[in-house]
Amino acid sequence: MTVERTSIDTLVVGAGQAGIAMSEHLSKLGVPHLVLERDRIAERWRTGRWDSLVANGPAWHDRFPGMEFDDLDPDAFASKDRVADYFEAYARKFNAPIRTGVEVTKVVRNAGRPGFTVETTEGVIEANRVVVTTGPFQRPVIPPIAPKAGELTQIHSAEYRNPEQLPEGAVLVVGAGSSGVQIADELQRAGKKVYLSVGPHDRPPRAYRSRDFCWWLGVLGEWDAEVMRPGREHVTIAVSGARGGHTVDFRRLANQGMTLVGLTKSFNDGVVTFEPDLADNLARGDENYLSLLNAADAYIARNGLDLPEEPEARHMLPDPECVTHPIPELDLVEAGVTSIVWATGYAVDYSWLHVNAFDANGKPKHQRGVSSEPGVYFLGLPWLSRRGSAFIWGVWHDARHIADHILTQRKYLSYRDASERQAEDGREIYEANFLSQY
Ligand SMILES: Cc1cc2nc3c(=O)[nH]c(=O)nc-3n(C[C@H](O)[C@H](O)[C@H](O)COP(=O)(O)OP(=O)(O)OC[C@H]3O[C@@H](n4cnc5c(N)ncnc54)[C@H](O)[C@@H]3O)c2cc1C
Repeated sequence: MTVERTSIDTLVVGAGQAGIAMSEHLSKLGVPHLVLERDRIAERWRTGRWDSLVANGPAWHDRFPGMEFDDLDPDAFASKDRVADYFEAYARKFNAPIRTGVEVTKVVRNAGRPGFTVETTEGVIEANRVVVTTGPFQRPVIPPIAPKAGELTQIHSAEYRNPEQLPEGAVLVVGAGSSGVQIADELQRAGKKVYLSVGPHDRPPRAYRSRDFCWWLGVLGEWDAEVMRPGREHVTIAVSGARGGHTVDFRRLANQGMTLVGLTKSFNDGVVTFEPDLADNLARGDENYLSLLNAADAYIARNGLDLPEEPEARHMLPDPECVTHPIPELDLVEAGVTSIVWATGYAVDYSWLHVNAFDANGKPKHQRGVSSEPGVYFLGLPWLSRRGSAFIWGVWHDARHIADHILTQRKYLSYRDASERQAEDGREIYEANFLSQY
């Protein structure tokens, strides 16, 4: 069998939102490129999330500037399939050069000549540049404390689809970021007894004074924050667009029958132990919530805006029993827990990328996505340039910066000095004369 060998200026790996944004900007700048996607366009939105998931931000916000969700109310939250359709349509709109069903298996820098040799499931490609848009959330992470064997069903939130998937019995959801809290809520609404392990989190109001929190983060400049607040590196954000969107309120969930517990510490002989940090975690989530209300009020006053007051947003429900008397440990069999959903985040996997673009911990070394290996770029990672970088609207702006960097590099490399220009001119005249004879 002969191996297909082609070449391209810029190869983009992955056709999720990041790959599509990259392709749009490269197309606008006239940079020859190809996007390779191992599955389908926006596959993770299509099949990598639970059935009922909707976007966390409203339709007016969670989109690219070049196209609206024309069938949705701007304040509605698009379903995951609608988001996937949106990206497919977006890619069609500018004829993005995407090849689906092709996986990139290896990238190595060429020795003694520019560019990279890229191995794929459909042949070898020579590329001057490689943009890595394989996603911020690739490999589901279950922490090593997870019980090894036994009767329990254990799945990661990446594998969760709907309540019917879990066996009869109570469920422990570990992690209360946007995924964990939404899954726990759905399981409880399906009639399950739910224990939710709540760690440190931010908990912005869904909306305040008639503006969604996405709007507030925008006008307050918070999406543009360039670094995480010190000490908040491991803090998740609990927001939900489910059922039209609502503020995540852990006390309300407890009043509806959910048992909140602290951070999950260990499992021993069927007994799970929790950190005594539940009240603290809730208090810090409240602080975050109230700080946004305060900043919003100050913004309204400073700009003389006429937005309706909302004093009830400051009323907190009293602490439920599970917060005032937290459960230190739980015997899983006694409590009837038959399954655990680990909503404990993801890691990246760059095992196929053999270049000098990683630090000692295997994290990409880059500045706004321009990596330490000339010609390799990363796009779509959390905090790539700012808080908004891994989100739909943010990745589009980061892609513009990377495309601009690529264009600038191409300009340098196309420079010819006087003697090279003369030689080229001479060659062109010779070729023109030669051709004119025919
Ligand atoms: C549960 C959940 C909900 C989210 N909700 C929102 C939201 O509402 N709003 C928002 O703005 N953000 C949201 N995000 C964050 C982010 O927008 C998504 O994670 C989004 O999918 C990231 O897009 P991406 O293009 O960077 O990566 P991905 O969507 O992961 O796309 C990467 C693509 O690369 C392909 N790929 C990987 N490796 C290879 C390879 N070697 N060769 C070829 N192809 C490869 C994959 O198949 C995939 O299609 C959410 C994230 C999660 C986990």
